[in-house]
Amino acid sequence: MNLKDTKIFIPEIPKEWERRTRSGHTNTWNDPFHRNGLPEVSLEPPMRGLYAERFDDGWYWVCGCNKCLGNGQSYSYIVCEDHNRCVTCNTHRKDLTETPWGHPDGFECQPCTADRKEELKLAALARAKELNLDEWDHYREDKIICPVCFSENSNDDMHQSNEYDLACSVCDTEFAVEVEYDPKYTSSLKK
Ligand SMILES: [Zn+2]
Ligand SMILES: [Zn+2]
Ligand SMILES: [Zn+2]
Repeated sequence: MNLKDTKIFIPEIPKEWERRTRSGHTNTWNDPFHRNGLPEVSLEPPMRGLYAERFDDGWYWVCGCNKCLGNGQSYSYIVCEDHNRCVTCNTHRKDLTETPWGHPDGFECQPCTADRKEELKLAALARAKELNLDEWDHYREDKIICPVCFSENSNDDMHQSNEYDLACSVCDTEFAVEVEYDPKYTSSLKK
């Protein structure tokens, strides 16, 4: 049976119970937060990818994995065992040696992210060489341009006139950025 069509009755939970919260794969009924006087019960689904849903005749384990459901939605709250893989190379999470990066469709393993970053870096360096820009192309610009690969960098945390150190997000070159603020002030009477 496909996980997506799974519907497994949960005999432990009376159908009258309505308050169910989730924490990862754990489903909890009557969390103390709800103060409804009913006993708190926590259950793990019989397999990863299922969560508890209330139907007219009681509670059932049903599929919550967006990929199994094929609903095209990002940021699946839970993922089944089979879909717990790198979005790029398909390596299973249990086979990873390093913590992966989050991704709208799950996660990407560190080697894949590093490969992609290396490709972007090489492309940017090749483009910079081709364009043959000089220092005037990153002088008093309205954005931060890396002096080596000419990629645009973010100006997070640069909120005043000062000199800042930055490492290019594309080619990793460390460079200095001089920020000049040129504020304009408009005054008006309060309404
Ligand atoms: Zn799945
Ligand atoms: Zn990967
Ligand atoms: Zn760069």
